[in-house]
Amino acid sequence: MSSHEAWSLVCRLFAGGTPVFRGALSPTEISACATLAPAIKATVVNRTFTLCPYCQLHNGQIVGGGNGGQNCQCPDCGPIPLAPEDRAAIMLDENWLRSRLRMALDIESRDGVTDLSDGVWRLGDARREPVLLSRSLMRLWADPSIFDRIRVPGAGIRVIAPRAAQMRGVPFPTGIEWLPLEERFTSYGGGIVHLKAGLAPEPSTDADPRIPVHGPFSADFKWVTLDSWPHGPIECTDGQAAVFKALWTFKAVKTVGIRVMRRAGLSSGKPNDLFKVKQRHKGRPEYEGPLHAYRALVESNKREGTYWMPCAGGAAGLP
Ligand SMILES: [Zn+2]
Repeated sequence: MSSHEAWSLVCRLFAGGTPVFRGALSPTEISACATLAPAIKATVVNRTFTLCPYCQLHNGQIVGGGNGGQNCQCPDCGPIPLAPEDRAAIMLDENWLRSRLRMALDIESRDGVTDLSDGVWRLGDARREPVLLSRSLMRLWADPSIFDRIRVPGAGIRVIAPRAAQMRGVPFPTGIEWLPLEERFTSYGGGIVHLKAGLAPEPSTDADPRIPVHGPFSADFKWVTLDSWPHGPIECTDGQAAVFKALWTFKAVKTVGIRVMRRAGLSSGKPNDLFKVKQRHKGRPEYEGPLHAYRALVESNKREGTYWMPCAGGAAGLP
């Protein structure tokens, strides 16, 4: 049982943010729970569905069984009687995580942890720089105004967040440093240690063109990855990608629509025209997705006719 496996479990539980059934853990993870005693709490999941105790593959509805007991109605195995331990689950003590991360970074204990929004906390200041903990990078891409709320003049911001699936490059503009939870920290002796950069190898990068490179956008701006969209990376048309790229280069500065369109290489119209969903395409994710991304990321002032993209604030220039 290596500390690496224990730490991987901590990261997985934090990223998920919900309890996990014991039955769904691997034997290595079960033994990791023992070494992580103060960090992992036992809990019972009470809901209408549970992991089938027989196949441990499917979730089945919980229904009343004989003798006042309960059954799991597994789609494959049929009704399987439930024992109390079948609902046993584990969860991460997130107060433990936050307090040990503060210790690992030498954060002054007099300023407490601030809950900034769902899944984002300000842990305090380390070397006079604010440190954020976020359950995912996407939460911050979706609401970059969080940075303005904690920014200190003349100081950078550090963000601790789990690595997003399939991402490479730098997720934030200069001045905001990302510390990947999995690689820059590990559990050790009941606490957490901060690893210096460069000790852990970068995960192998594959050539998936959808991977976010500029904030939530892929290298060519044709793909947008957003937590709030349940259907995976959003694919944009060439015109939509050109508008996003143009807005990115204007770095969150309010810009009149005609300038945005000119920089996008488009002759006429307004930026939002390209995202309208025709009546016959309503409700289809491939058409609704780009509109969802536009609404989530682009701000406009109708009276001034200006457009800007908050997440591009301070964005590094494009080659
Ligand atoms: Zn089953």
